[in-house]
Amino acid sequence: MLLTRKAEFSASHVCANPSLSDAENRALYGHNANPNGHGHNYVLEVTVEGDPDPVTGMVFDLRELKQILNEEVVEPMDHRFLNREVPPFDRVVPTTENLVVEIWKRLDSRIRRGGVHLKNVRLYETTDLYVDYGGEACG
Ligand SMILES: [Zn+2]
Repeated sequence: MLLTRKAEFSASHVCANPSLSDAENRALYGHNANPNGHGHNYVLEVTVEGDPDPVTGMVFDLRELKQILNEEVVEPMDHRFLNREVPPFDRVVPTTENLVVEIWKRLDSRIRRGGVHLKNVRLYETTDLYVDYGGEACG
């Protein structure tokens, strides 16, 4: 069974790789490489897989899941300039792809227990664009 919880945060970023030149970054990322940054209202959907507990009837305690999302993602990232305030994005370009990998790393060990595990992290950068990540591929 799949259980999904949603959370939202607003953050700004610059999409530019410090190891490339300004011209290369502009060619790759366009306006998104503007060093002054720009903001997004990110929408996060975290999916947990497992069977409902026979006693509680729940796959995962929803209050605890909300608290984990707040502690690991919303509090550290909401109203932040990701490149300057949220490691590893001082070194890693904060594209939506790299954000889902970082969010996965923060959540995975806090959610995994018994037969329950993190199944998918979906992050919308805009209403028209999202990335799904299911952890590193095996093999
Ligand atoms: Zn952007």
